[in-house]
Amino acid sequence: MKIIMLGAPGAGKGTMASRLSERFGLPHISTGDIFRENIKNGTELGKKAKSYMDQGLLVPDELTCDLVTDRIGQDDCKKGFILDGFPRTINQAEALTDALGKKGQQIDYAVNVIVSDEKIVSRMSGRRVCPKCGASYHLVTLPPKAEGICDKCGTELTQRADDDAETVKKRLNIYHEQTEPLIAYYNNLGIIVEIPGDKNADEEVAKIAPLLVEKD
Ligand code: AMP
Repeated sequence: MKIIMLGAPGAGKGTMASRLSERFGLPHISTGDIFRENIKNGTELGKKAKSYMDQGLLVPDELTCDLVTDRIGQDDCKKGFILDGFPRTINQAEALTDALGKKGQQIDYAVNVIVSDEKIVSRMSGRRVCPKCGASYHLVTLPPKAEGICDKCGTELTQRADDDAETVKKRLNIYHEQTEPLIAYYNNLGIIVEIPGDKNADEEVAKIAPLLVEKD
């Protein structure tokens, strides 16, 4: 089953994707995580991506599309995948449709995580991430068991550089201009499943999971 996650930055795509990944046993592929990993490792891709990410801008399609096409062609994606943070532009969506189409495949579901802009701005200030394993928490809605420490690997949590107020506003504007049109794109294909991003993630995922059934 091939699933993409839609929704504004900070809507909770990553959390939902990770729950769906556990539930369906499919790899969770986050382009943001791939870029952050490359930045940490000082790769050429990381150096290029960092200059855009730090400003809250999208990394250009030419650096992003091939990366995703290669990743979803790997063995662990044979049964499907959960794409989180890609596509983010109509160009990227078309590139994905084409890449899958060449193999006679298609995206089965686009899960749209819905949260108001006001909530996003307030919640992003509370987001904390694990710099080691990438797990994501929130000071109020999803706190780690021990304050400031990752439940999964025990590393000290940090705040992302692009979660500061000004950068968040810029990222939201870019979302409305460039990414939101994807809802109509996937709606035309009849594959949108909506999920509220401001309620209990486990409960909401449990509600939509039965709708996500294997297609031929
Ligand atoms: P995320 O972790 O998904 O919020 O992504 C963090 C940042 O990585 C974004 O603000 C972009 O700068 C970059 N990024 C992630 N995915 C993409 C994508 N599909 N296209 C362009 N830039 C991306």
